Amino acid sequence: MSRIAYVNGQYLPHTAAAVHIEDRGYQFSDGIYEVCSVFGGRIFDFEPHAARLERSLSELAIAVPFSRPVLKMIMEEVLRQNRIKTGIVYIQITRGVAPRDHAFPSTVVPPSVIMTARRFDFAAIAGKQKTGVPIITAEDLRWKRRDIKSVSLLGNVLAKQAAREAGVYEAWMVDEDGFVTEGSSTNAWIVDKEDRLISRALSRDILPGITRADTRTLASELRMEMAERPFTVEEAKAAKEAFLTSTTSLVMPVVEIDGAKIGDGRPGALSAKLAERYWRFVCRQTGMNFGRR
Ligand code: PMP
Repeated sequence: MSRIAYVNGQYLPHTAAAVHIEDRGYQFSDGIYEVCSVFGGRIFDFEPHAARLERSLSELAIAVPFSRPVLKMIMEEVLRQNRIKTGIVYIQITRGVAPRDHAFPSTVVPPSVIMTARRFDFAAIAGKQKTGVPIITAEDLRWKRRDIKSVSLLGNVLAKQAAREAGVYEAWMVDEDGFVTEGSSTNAWIVDKEDRLISRALSRDILPGITRADTRTLASELRMEMAERPFTVEEAKAAKEAFLTSTTSLVMPVVEIDGAKIGDGRPGALSAKLAERYWRFVCRQTGMNFGRR
């Protein structure tokens, strides 16, 4: 069965799905995106993803093309046409098509909207959560509005490629003062000797991760202490535990940073507890039961 994409109002096989060569997303990466996970056919955390999408658009002065119910309906239709029950749905919205000029088009052009969906092996993620993953660190080369989920991802791409070449799961990016900002596609966390969860506070420096926000809520329900502040690579390497969060990694224990073992090289107690608690949260919201509840 051929994969079906939504492209500006049409549902098309991928082979026929295309955007214009003068789409501003293609020429200037002038656009934004979102990725939602799907469990049991249900879109997980739709509302916060929709809210972040609307904020990204508003920060770039791109018109919001659909109401939330319409956005959700199209996402569900893409999932239905691709027969996806467990996977991810990708949404990309750009400023649209206009003759190439750096400044915004002077006439009103409709934003370009595409959506795709694919199966995703969350069971493999659950497997990795048991052992934890190694990561490396890399220079943060990105622009200064990382809070916008823009498709300008070259810095993230280079960091992820460095991780791939090093044979590790992720790269945590480091600012010019030696502090970790976030992963190439994940938020970064450590646990200090006093069992406090440490994660960089939200600012223009990092993406406000939806999984980060959920994890914060779950941690507070579990009466875990949390401090929002930057941490250095040295502090991370010496931390009791480390983990990362994202839509596709959920809560993933980190057991090695740049070759240095974290704790005893196995997932830490709080990381493991949060990972498990997060799965229960997914089950509760989507009505799934991955051997839990
Ligand atoms: N930071 C970056 C740079 C990301 O690309 C992502 C993935 N979207 C995240 C953090 C995690 O965000 P979320 O939990 O919303 O997937």
